[in-house]
Amino acid sequence: MNKKIFKSPLIGISSTLLTVESGCFIGYERSVVLHNYVGAIERVGGVPVILPIVKDRSLIERQMEGVDGLLLSGGYDISPLHYQEEPQQGLEALCDERDVYEIELAQHAYRSKKPIFGVCRGLQLLNVAFGGTLYQDIHLAFPRAIQHASKARPHEATHTVSVVSNSLLQRIVGKKTLLTNSFHHQAIKQLAPLFLVNAETKDGMIEGIEGREDSFILGVQWHPEMMIESDPEMLKLFQAFVEAARHWKGEEDGEQ
Ligand code: MN
Repeated sequence: MNKKIFKSPLIGISSTLLTVESGCFIGYERSVVLHNYVGAIERVGGVPVILPIVKDRSLIERQMEGVDGLLLSGGYDISPLHYQEEPQQGLEALCDERDVYEIELAQHAYRSKKPIFGVCRGLQLLNVAFGGTLYQDIHLAFPRAIQHASKARPHEATHTVSVVSNSLLQRIVGKKTLLTNSFHHQAIKQLAPLFLVNAETKDGMIEGIEGREDSFILGVQWHPEMMIESDPEMLKLFQAFVEAARHWKGEEDGEQ
């Protein structure tokens, strides 16, 4: 095998369940990811591996052992029962199997110090998995908040994000502000103790988090994988993540 490819880190991408709406298998569920995540990881030299939702905890651990980094993808709302709240008006579709699975997956990744990158729901999942809470619906909590559930096309930037000085995010993008897309109606309320805020919008919503400890943990509330063609800057996030996974793998393989 080509030595370079052998050294490429395997990146596990968490998938979702999607009910088939037409054809032979109507009503059955597919395990899927948006292909943009696969494309973004491939573009920066990682080996994308789609991780299907499984129930057995030992299988989840084994799945995580098999990869060098974890990309938590976007999707459904997270059940508020996972942060000790009852559902409020404004809460949207849930998938509890996915919540339980991804919380376990994220905790395994953290314990093994493997790099984690959370996108949209992935950022929210990280916060909940490590003890934080969410606003179940931004506009229910803040009627005057800016529009975060955009109607624009996915690659189009619609709001400004301020990047916190001296954060990992700022070192990656090298900018104080970013223009991003926005396809969420929930946001972080109480930040989990493991994290620092690295980005926010002008209405004070948290748009990015990172780990306080040594291992690479990054979460963004927008969808950089949708923007890599129109804004090459967004590729830097995937580059940094895959480089961290490559570094983790290198140390594990006994290299310098
Ligand atoms: Mn937003």
